[in-house]
Amino acid sequence: MRRTMVAGNWKMHGTRASVAELINGLRHLALPSGADIAVFPPCLHITQVVDGLKGKSIQVGAQNSAVEAMQGALTGEIAPSQLVDAGCSYVLVGHSERRQMMGERDGTLNRKFAAAQACGLIPVLCIGETLEQRESGKTLEVVSRQLGSIIEELGVGAFAKAVIAYEPVWAIGTGLTATPQQAQDVHAAIRAQLAAENSDVAQGVRLLYGGSVKAANAVELFGMPDIDGGLIGGASLNADEFGAICRAAGN
Ligand code: PEP
Repeated sequence: MRRTMVAGNWKMHGTRASVAELINGLRHLALPSGADIAVFPPCLHITQVVDGLKGKSIQVGAQNSAVEAMQGALTGEIAPSQLVDAGCSYVLVGHSERRQMMGERDGTLNRKFAAAQACGLIPVLCIGETLEQRESGKTLEVVSRQLGSIIEELGVGAFAKAVIAYEPVWAIGTGLTATPQQAQDVHAAIRAQLAAENSDVAQGVRLLYGGSVKAANAVELFGMPDIDGGLIGGASLNADEFGAICRAAGN
């Protein structure tokens, strides 16, 4: 039985003051015991969030990390080992905003994924198709290629200690959400691709859905058999809304 998970991606939002307010809101939430909860603040605020959430069952992750595991001469980057030292448990790898705006390609993402795991961080691999790709019937081909890149490079066993987030690019920050059935179809295909290599890994890995998830649509999405929770962007900046989404995953 897979434990559900809800992850809040704060993206490039927040000041020390607004982060303090959000931490306060999160501290007051009634959270379900049946789900793992994590938040992914901007790097600058990670230590503030780790300290502020001490004693609350919310883990902290980073939105990005370096291709090298250990600290060294790599200006402007943050090593997975430094994230562990700061109190992180997870890191996002390959969010579509980084694929599209920062030009991150599969080869780079394979290295980031491996470097994160080498330090004990759990990578959350983000995959998903653009609207154009969906409309031309290429959704499964795109998602399978993004997933296959890690499998080919690191082996399917890498997913024994990782999370996958299916995030259709057209649903991120747009207010458009995949229907529960559309999301389920892609999640089932992801699990089948993993199962073709190793059924234990496929059954154990958590597959999150991301793309305009809110409290109002979370119950239906999380009710699908292959959807094990969500990666939440905009709605994670509101503690009460985020709490309601967490409860939808945990009950
Ligand atoms: C995201 O940034 O990963 C995301 C899913 O954003 P939103 O929930 O705002 O669509």
